[in-house]
Amino acid sequence: MADLLRETFSQITEGTAVNRETALRLARYPDQQKFWSAADRLRRRFMGDHFHLCAIINARSGGCTEDCRFCAQSARHRTDAPVYAMIDAEEAMRIARSIAASGADRLSLVTSGRSVRKAELHQFATIYEQIRHETKLDLCASMGLLDQENAALLTAMGVSRYHCNLESCAARFTEFCTTHTWQEKVDTLKTAAAAGMSLCSGGIIGMGESMEDRIDLALELRGLGIRSIPINILTPIAGTPLDNLTPLPLPEILSTIALFRFINPEAVLRMAGGRQQLGQDQYRCFAAGANGAIVGNYLTTAGSPVAEDLSRLREMGFLFQMR
Ligand code: SF4
Repeated sequence: MADLLRETFSQITEGTAVNRETALRLARYPDQQKFWSAADRLRRRFMGDHFHLCAIINARSGGCTEDCRFCAQSARHRTDAPVYAMIDAEEAMRIARSIAASGADRLSLVTSGRSVRKAELHQFATIYEQIRHETKLDLCASMGLLDQENAALLTAMGVSRYHCNLESCAARFTEFCTTHTWQEKVDTLKTAAAAGMSLCSGGIIGMGESMEDRIDLALELRGLGIRSIPINILTPIAGTPLDNLTPLPLPEILSTIALFRFINPEAVLRMAGGRQQLGQDQYRCFAAGANGAIVGNYLTTAGSPVAEDLSRLREMGFLFQMR
């Protein structure tokens, strides 16, 4: 068993991708600390020490028609999530300026809802234009399901990356959402790629899925060629159908990250919503294969202070490119 890590590590460096069976063996590796450290070495080998920081602006919040069971923004759940149709442009710029000063590379406008209408997209164009004018941030969008026309409009606005989480592996998706399909999300990613955008897609752990399910999600993301993978840890939000779930134990979270790294050695693994629940232990995620994070606040939960993130990550040896 001791050789499994060494053998798999060298196979990956020689270009052989980890298959499902090996991933399942890795998940059962008895010395978890060794497994996490091997994932950290793999991250350094393939991705170096540059840390990938990004941030999001909640551009349209709540009132969503969809029924995603984990989400505070569905109109079907009674939560305290804010509800507004369009962020005030000045407020968006205030956030964008502070994000630009923090050292983040990318900024995304995120909208609740199944998709956005063309007329709404034109309103967001003004905000994108102002961000481009005042900062050097690369632009992302996360606006639900996408058709070709909207994808072309976004690229014309200077948006270079599209985000659409798969949320869970294909086999479990209908347990978490019934109003749209996993395949519609995959189609959205393909539409965005065809329009020239790079892709960002990941999922949520802690929704009652097994380690096998997480391995399947990591393999599916690899199959789609995703190189930016947000990993969210479920924050059970009062009023959502998943509000009574027990949070995942830390070792399970770290092993999941390590598995994602072994399966996707050349992707940015980006800790997203939920990491603040781990307190100071959240920084252990970045010694188990993760090399990116969303900084600042998330959509419906508060994040960690950016200065604290930067100082802890620098202490761990990560590098930042200030723009
Ligand atoms: S995840 Fe998106 S589509 Fe699903 S309920 Fe929340 S805002 Fe709506």
